[in-house]
Amino acid sequence: MLKVLKFGGTSVGTLDRIQNVANIIKKIRDEGHDVIAVVSAMSGETNKLIEYAEYYSKTPKLDEIDMLLSSGERVTSALLSIALNEMGLKATSMSGREAGIVTDNAHTKARIEHIDTTGMKKAIKEGNIIIVAGFQGVVQDSLRVSTLGRGGSDLTAVAIAGAIEADVCEIYTDVDGIYTTDPRIEPKAKKLEKISYDEMLELASLGAKVLQNRSVEMAKKLNVNLVSRSSFTPEVEGTLITKEENIMEKPVVSGIALDKNQVRVGMYGVTDRPGIASAIFTALADANINVDMIVQTVGVDGKTDLDFTIPKTDWEICKGVMEKFRPETENIDYNEKICKVSIVGVGMKSHTGVASKAFTALANENINIRIISTSEIKISMIIDEKYAELAVRALHEAYDLDK
Ligand code: ADP
Ligand code: ASP
Ligand code: MG
Repeated sequence: MLKVLKFGGTSVGTLDRIQNVANIIKKIRDEGHDVIAVVSAMSGETNKLIEYAEYYSKTPKLDEIDMLLSSGERVTSALLSIALNEMGLKATSMSGREAGIVTDNAHTKARIEHIDTTGMKKAIKEGNIIIVAGFQGVVQDSLRVSTLGRGGSDLTAVAIAGAIEADVCEIYTDVDGIYTTDPRIEPKAKKLEKISYDEMLELASLGAKVLQNRSVEMAKKLNVNLVSRSSFTPEVEGTLITKEENIMEKPVVSGIALDKNQVRVGMYGVTDRPGIASAIFTALADANINVDMIVQTVGVDGKTDLDFTIPKTDWEICKGVMEKFRPETENIDYNEKICKVSIVGVGMKSHTGVASKAFTALANENINIRIISTSEIKISMIIDEKYAELAVRALHEAYDLDK
């Protein structure tokens, strides 16, 4: 079999842990499999590099940020390869560019356009274990290094697994699978044996960082057999992320997600004219900002209020865009002391009373809900940040997820 394995930041967080990863790879290799391993930067490294850049500038050039951040995963890829070679295995590290990963030029959140697998196929044929530096590629025209957004090594692994038609893509992290909610917040969370791509995509998009959302989207599109498991207990089977039809039991609610990385933008007294929403959200889209929940109140006296949320990382850029709309707005304010809790489950499609149960669970804890949004398989609520963990536990219990 050809296996693509991905090891996250904690799994390669120290030199001893890199050795542990080398041992896992050796065992899989000894079982007769071909291996492409994708690695993250050592834990904390990417944040440290971002802080270094912020020492000089709040709005650094994004291609320079990519040059800086991509270095973290290159360090681990080389170290892991050195460790493997020392153990008598044939291994070679590759940067994203060497692995043939070509992206668009949206620096710091680039999209993979295609992967030229020629180099990787050749290296495997020559008997190598390949260690790819995750989270990065090369921009087609400029040949500058690009990065794929936070958590992007997951995407590197899935995209390679899809492009090279690997048999499986195993994401090794510091928990042994996907749980009904973050086990660090709710110790009673239960591990799921399987979860559908759609539910996982919602959980990931709504804040469960155990898998990067774009990696799940890509896994679904390319039909990649995706497994989440632990590098600390590699003998334990993880969670399979798969098609909905492969899952027999479909609970109404499968999981709870929490996202603390949002800022609520409030625009009050906005001129209520046709095209105003289009103008605002086009400007935000042009700045590559992912707008999430949007609420517009009923206009009164030619004025309306508009509330929406954006990722904290886009805050500075958003402020710049908002300035253009000052003349048409009485007041703009930002609230970062909020969070989003969400419940996810494919079973919601065919059940009633799912939303009211969530609202009641939060009401019983005296938690005020500020914005609500729903889709077919999820309900999201914006609440004050100080209630984040309490809300997750209350919802977890309300849907009997600990049972
Ligand atoms: P890595 O560095 O390996 O990429 P991450 O820190 O990005 O790992 O993701 C793993 C973390 O995701 C876990 O430590 C856990 O706290 C968190 N997490 C959030 N939601 C869930 C969930 N539903 N199931 C398991 N882990 C979750
Ligand atoms: N090192 C990058 C990050 O911290 C990418 C990753 O770990 O997947 O976001
Ligand atoms: Mg991660």
